[in-house]
Amino acid sequence: MSTGPSKTQALNQVPVEELHGVGPKVAEQLARIGITSVRDLLFHLPLRYQDRSRVVPIADLEPGTEVLVEGEIRDVGIGYGRRRSLKVWLADASEQGGILLRFFHFSGKQAAALKPGTKLRCFGEVRRGPQSLEMVHPEYRHYGRAEPPPLEDSLTPIYPTTEGLQQSSWRLLTDQALALLEQDDAMLEEWLPREVLERFRFPTLAAALRLLHRPPAATSAAALRDRRHPALRRLVFDELVAHQLGLRRLRYRQQRIRAPVLSGDRRLRAKLLAGLPFELTAAQHRVTEEIARDLQRPHPMLRLLQGDVGSGKTVVAALASLQAVESGRQVALMAPTELLSEQHLRNLRGWLEPLGLDPLWLTGRHKGRERAELVARIAGEGAPVMVGTHALFQDDVRFRDLGLVIVDEQHRFGVHQRMKLKEKGARAAQAPHQLIMTATPIPRSLAMTLYADLDLSVIDELPPDRTPVTTVAVSDGRRQEVIERVRDACIQGRQAYWVCTLIDESEALQCRAAEDTAEALAASLPELRVGLVHGRLKATEREPVMAGFAAGELDLLVATTLIEVGVDVPNASLMIIENPERLGLAQLHQLRGRVGRGSVRSHCVLLYHAPLSPQARARLAILRESSDGFEIARKDLKLRGPGEVLGTRQTGGVQFRIADPAGDEHLLPAARQTADLILDRYPGHVRPLIERWLGERVEYGRV
Ligand code: ADP
Ligand code: MG
Repeated sequence: MSTGPSKTQALNQVPVEELHGVGPKVAEQLARIGITSVRDLLFHLPLRYQDRSRVVPIADLEPGTEVLVEGEIRDVGIGYGRRRSLKVWLADASEQGGILLRFFHFSGKQAAALKPGTKLRCFGEVRRGPQSLEMVHPEYRHYGRAEPPPLEDSLTPIYPTTEGLQQSSWRLLTDQALALLEQDDAMLEEWLPREVLERFRFPTLAAALRLLHRPPAATSAAALRDRRHPALRRLVFDELVAHQLGLRRLRYRQQRIRAPVLSGDRRLRAKLLAGLPFELTAAQHRVTEEIARDLQRPHPMLRLLQGDVGSGKTVVAALASLQAVESGRQVALMAPTELLSEQHLRNLRGWLEPLGLDPLWLTGRHKGRERAELVARIAGEGAPVMVGTHALFQDDVRFRDLGLVIVDEQHRFGVHQRMKLKEKGARAAQAPHQLIMTATPIPRSLAMTLYADLDLSVIDELPPDRTPVTTVAVSDGRRQEVIERVRDACIQGRQAYWVCTLIDESEALQCRAAEDTAEALAASLPELRVGLVHGRLKATEREPVMAGFAAGELDLLVATTLIEVGVDVPNASLMIIENPERLGLAQLHQLRGRVGRGSVRSHCVLLYHAPLSPQARARLAILRESSDGFEIARKDLKLRGPGEVLGTRQTGGVQFRIADPAGDEHLLPAARQTADLILDRYPGHVRPLIERWLGERVEYGRV
C-alpha cells in the first residue's frame, strides 16, 4: 500500500479510497450503504458463512446444505428437458451413485473440459433432483491428475451487499482492512473498559472483528449462526452499551426542556371516580398515580401506557386529562382513526358531561366553517378537552395552552407524526406532557430497549368481570357451519362480529370485500339484522350502524379490521375472523379483545383459508392456547422477530446494526450496568461509543 495510512492514524480517519480497488465508483457504492472509512468496513459484518474448509463425502450430503465436494467425473451428457442442460455425474469413493451437476448456461469449451475421468472440486447447494441429489451451477475447479488444491483455512464470509459489489470485492476490501488492523490493534480504539472485558471474558474489539470476518476453520458455525459466539456477543454488547448511553444522553437533554406543572386539586378526578359504575383495578390505580406524579414535575412526561385490550386504559387517560384541566390547561387526545376518536369522544362525553365539561371533536371530516369554528375554540377559551385524529395537529391549529397530549395506539402513528406533535405543543423551550397508550404487548425489557427514552407504565391486570374467550380455528371449507353458529348465537339474543381481512390490498378492496360478505351473509341469514362498517363509509353513515349495534338493534356487524381497537359492546360474544393467517398475532389478539367484555362466555372463530403453512398453523395455535397479550407477543417475537412484529421502522423505535433486542434480551441488564459504570468512571468513553454505533442516528429515537 504505497500511499497507505500512517501507523498512528485511527481507522475511522482512514477513508476507504485509500484501499486498493476503491475508485470513485466503488467509493460511491460503499457510501450508499454508509461505509466511508476503513472502520466502517470492519463493522460491516458477514451475514453468514460458507464452509470451504472441508470436503464432505457424497454419501453424507443433505439437501439444503452448501458444501464442498470432490470426486471424479463418471459421465457427461446433454439433457433436453424443459430446458437444455449440461449434466455431469460426479462420484467419490463414498458413493458410486454420485451427484448430478447441472449447468443451464455453458460454453462448448466448458463442456469439453468436463470429460469423464477428470477430477473436480465443487462448491454449491445440494438439492433433491428427480433422480438423485443435484447441484445447479456449482463453483468448480478441475485439477486433472494433480494433487487437490489446498483447502481454505477459514470459513468463507458472505457479506450483505449492494448492487454492483461482488462477494470477491468485499473479501478483497476486508482483507486490506484486516491487514491494517493487524499492524496495530490500537488503530481501532477499545472503548469497553478492561475490567468489563475481563468480567465477561470478552475478546478485544480487534480480535472479535478478526474472528467474525475470517473465522478459523475450527470455529463452530452453529455458534456463529445462533449468535452464541463470544466474538459476536462482544460486538452486540458494545452496541447495546452505546445504545444505553445514547438514550441516557437524550433523557438528560429532555430534562432540560420545561413543561407546565399540572398539580391539579383532584376535585374533578374525585367526582369522576365517584360517578364510575366500577372500581378501578389496583393496576389502574398504580399507573394513574405514576402519571399524576410525572405531570406535577416541571419537565415533560414521556410515558408509555401499556395495557392489554380491555384492561381499561381509557379511564386512566380521562383521569390524566382531568388533572390537566384542574390545572387550567388544555388536553388533546389523539386516535389514529376517526372511528376510534369517536369512541373516545363518546366515552369522555359520558364521563365529563356530568362534570360540566364538553369535549371538542376535530377530525378530517370537519371542513369549512365548522372547522374554522372548532379551530377558533381551540385557540380561545372554549376547549379544555379535545378529542380527534391527527387533524388536531394540522399546521393552522394553535392551542391556547396545551398541557398534555395523549396518543392512543401509538404504533399506528409514524415517527414523523410523533415528531410533529412534539414541535406543535412546544413553544419557547416548553413542551406539553405526553402519554402514549398502546395495547401492543411489548415485553418490558424489550420496550425498555426500543423506547428507553420513554417511561413505562403497565396495566397488568384485567377488570375482574372478564371471562376468557374460547378460540377455535376452522377451515373455510366449513364456512356454512360457522354461519349456522352465528345464527344460533344471535337467535339466543347475543351479538356477533364478522371481520373481513385483506392485508396489503387497497382500502377500497377491503371495503368491497366487506360489502360483498355483508350481502352474502344477509342473504343466508334472513332472520338476522346485519350491519356493515368500513373505512370508506362517512362517519355520518357509520355512526348510526355502530350506535345500532351498541344498542342491540343489530345482531351481526360485518366489519373490516378497523374495528380492531376501541369498539366496546359487552353483549357481543362471538367473533368470526376471516383469513386470520394474514394478520399478525398482536392484531388478532386485539380484534378478539372486542368480545369477552361482558359476563357471557365468548367465542372467537378463526376461519382460515386452507391449506395453512406450518408456521401459520403454529401461530394460530398460540392464539388458541393463550389469552394473555404479553405471552402471545413473546411467542410471536420468537416466531417472526421483532422487526416484523413491532414494525420497528414505523414505530420510531431505534434500529440496531448488530444487536437484536429480542434475541439478545439477556444481555440487557449487563449492558445497562456497564453504561452506568462508563458514565461514572470512564466519562471520556461515552461520546466515542455513541458515535461509533449510533453516529448520525443518535437523534432518531428522540420523541
Ligand atoms: P382498553 O384498555 O382496551 O382501551 P377500555 O378503556 O376501552 O380498554 O376499557 C374496556 C371496558 O372496560 C370499558 O367498557 C370500560 O368502561 C371498562 N372498564 C375499565 N376499567 C374497568 C374496571 N376497573 N372495572 C370494570 N370495568 C372497567
Ligand atoms: Mg382503548
